[in-house]
Amino acid sequence: MTEQPRMNVESFNLDHRTVAAPYVRIADRKELPGGDVLTKFDVRFTQPNVAHLESETVHSLEHMMAEHMRNHSEDVLDVSPMGCRTGFYVLLVGDHTAESFAPVLEATLRDLIAADEVPAANEVQCGWGAHHTLEGAQAAAREFLDQRDAWGQVTAS
Ligand SMILES: [Zn+2]
Repeated sequence: MTEQPRMNVESFNLDHRTVAAPYVRIADRKELPGGDVLTKFDVRFTQPNVAHLESETVHSLEHMMAEHMRNHSEDVLDVSPMGCRTGFYVLLVGDHTAESFAPVLEATLRDLIAADEVPAANEVQCGWGAHHTLEGAQAAAREFLDQRDAWGQVTAS
């Protein structure tokens, strides 16, 4: 497991044993033919292969971050859950750093904690409208926010 072939997906080249969640890091940065830049963040809530979020929690965090984050940034293109349920990818238009993105994420999570419903948690607007937990999403957001000072430290020690 030490010598992995180089893979296409950036996170497949990340040794998930070495990271220290929670953290926020740039997973990818792409310059488009016209010169515009896209920045993709790895927003990791739980320690890979040690802990994960419940499915309803991930789903509600996805809805809430996708909706609330757009109140804090015009640059949000996508907020998507990781299949391993340990975090999210956030894709932004423009050149961003983890430091410049952190206040946007923090404001988003504060809104989320203060919210009284999960947006679009119904059969018209979602593919599994019953699969949500406001309390679970808020608890996970609170725990992640409580460790705000650690977001910048991606790897252990
Ligand atoms: Zn949904």
